[in-house]
Amino acid sequence: MSDGKLLSFVKELTLLLEQQASEEVIFTKGKKLLENLISVDDWLPEEFTKPHPQYYQQYLLYADPFDRFSVVSFVWGPGQKTPVHNHTVWGMVGQLRGEEKGTPYHQQADGSYKAGSPTICLPGHVDTVSPNTHDIHEVANNHQDQTSISIHVYGANIGKVQRAVFDPITGTEKIFISGYANSLVPNL
Ligand code: FE
Repeated sequence: MSDGKLLSFVKELTLLLEQQASEEVIFTKGKKLLENLISVDDWLPEEFTKPHPQYYQQYLLYADPFDRFSVVSFVWGPGQKTPVHNHTVWGMVGQLRGEEKGTPYHQQADGSYKAGSPTICLPGHVDTVSPNTHDIHEVANNHQDQTSISIHVYGANIGKVQRAVFDPITGTEKIFISGYANSLVPNL
């Protein structure tokens, strides 16, 4: 039996990271791998597509045993959005279904955070975040009446990473660890 799409992606990204790929290479070659994965929406098992009425869901699809990367399905119910937050590791966000609006935030001299121009992500589009350049943003489902799903890939096991949410007005930072909604991962 040939590898499924998710397993092929995991294998290829593992091989790339084995070569100690720089962030620049991850955001070119790795990004292409993710673009390929999300180019056809026919592989994500249904149990990792389910929205929650109140909270956006983060389903772990794969975690590298050396914590070099993780793959997570983000499922947004109508109108759901994140607080302004950071990641502290590189990240790639590939739109699989629906539409998301990503808004970058930039810290000002007085400590507050100001919103930059938002990007609307359509299926097939891959966005990036990085503590080296642009790590703080807010993400929202751009649909008020349907679910949106994106596949996130991070340079760590993101559900275990201590990171922060920000109050954009006061600049106050609150530490959080995101965790995952699922206790069982897909059988690759
Ligand atoms: Fe994010």
